[in-house]
Amino acid sequence: MTHVFPRHAKAKLPVAVRGDGVYLFDSEGNSYLDGSGGAAVSCLGHNDPDIIVAIKNQVDSLDFAHTGFMTSEAAEALATRLALHAPEGIDRVYLVSGGSEAVEAALKLARQYMIEIGQSQRTRFIARRQSYHGNTLGALGTGGNIWRRDPFDPIMVSASHIAPCYEYRDRTSVETAEDYGNRVANELEAELLRLGPENVIGFLAEPVVGATAGAVPPVAGYFRRIREICDKYEVLLILDEVMCGMGRTGTFFACEQDGVRPDIVTIAKGLGAGYQPIGAMLCSQDIYDAIAEGSGFFQHGHTYLGHPVACAAANAVVKKLIEGGLTARSDKMGQYLERALFDTFGQHPHVGDIRGRGMFRGLEFVADRDTKAPFDPEKQLAARLKRKAMENGLICYPMSGTIDGQYGDHVLLAPPFIATELQLDELVDKLSKSL
Ligand code: PMP
Repeated sequence: MTHVFPRHAKAKLPVAVRGDGVYLFDSEGNSYLDGSGGAAVSCLGHNDPDIIVAIKNQVDSLDFAHTGFMTSEAAEALATRLALHAPEGIDRVYLVSGGSEAVEAALKLARQYMIEIGQSQRTRFIARRQSYHGNTLGALGTGGNIWRRDPFDPIMVSASHIAPCYEYRDRTSVETAEDYGNRVANELEAELLRLGPENVIGFLAEPVVGATAGAVPPVAGYFRRIREICDKYEVLLILDEVMCGMGRTGTFFACEQDGVRPDIVTIAKGLGAGYQPIGAMLCSQDIYDAIAEGSGFFQHGHTYLGHPVACAAANAVVKKLIEGGLTARSDKMGQYLERALFDTFGQHPHVGDIRGRGMFRGLEFVADRDTKAPFDPEKQLAARLKRKAMENGLICYPMSGTIDGQYGDHVLLAPPFIATELQLDELVDKLSKSL
């Protein structure tokens, strides 16, 4: 009997004992190609000696100092490096221990900012259907995934949800991509007017939608229009890059490719790269100043935020992603992976869409390519694919829930950026065999 509380009561999971590069090994000697990097976490692969040295050096000198009393060299170095490479105008970094914590911090910071500037009547958030922002009650309240929200709805802070930018399913045959982007972005304006813009704090979205939809990028221009609407009604634009940030899409921040400037942005997953639990919420100087010059105190915090060991690991990770060229490699190898996916699945009768950016790719499964009808949920395609892939030595991230956050199936691929062409071929072969 295991005393670990498993995610699924009936799951019998292999015991992971070792990681090396793009592979994980279990206690029975089986190897698995880590085709989703956990869940878009392991951007550097497993067992990277540089990160291990950074962690060891940090533990040798300082394990922990509570941020209520002291800062640390590791936290300062990481925040400086992140601010240097953050989207324009973003220069303050709040360090936390994961993605949900980063989103919670963002929501609370946004609300407190509104109070500090005399807009305390603003209490509402708008987010999108088919989004995931975390599992804590605030983050879950903004997420658009129906089955995840359902049991907890009565006890959550409830955001309202507009349509995501989901070209494969939504763009009509007579619309240009630009017209389509404007049409869906304009749903934000309609929702603001419905709620009364003076009541709204901010709009929260993943630039490239990850877990709930399978690497769905926006069409060009969509986020520029979103920014215009946010500016017009003075609501904050909060981008959740917990999954798609940190080089995953081929640029350090995903939103760089959309020419959009957020007010607040969240990151996690790839920041710790699996070596340490860490996340961050970054905001503009204006937001920081409103609090610094107002109450002077952000009413938030967790014991482990800015943990020196996590920061030392993350600092070494970011150094490799930027100075070490791994973000550029994500772009380059992502193009290779895209070609390999089109070669293998481009004509597949049950693969409706192949999409994504960099090393962040998704396939959407359909029962019928012409009508785009999804599979019957009873068939449990995603769950079966996950099992079969593991039998074949591949970890990938299939999910059900592409359509309105409920029905439909996709698989998310997010391999480590260090993967070679041969390893990406192996990933695609194993996926094909499992499908
Ligand atoms: N936001 C996004 C976009 C995510 O994908 C996730 C995790 N899948 C989270 C937030 C929550 O992160 P965590 O699981 O580290 O709490």
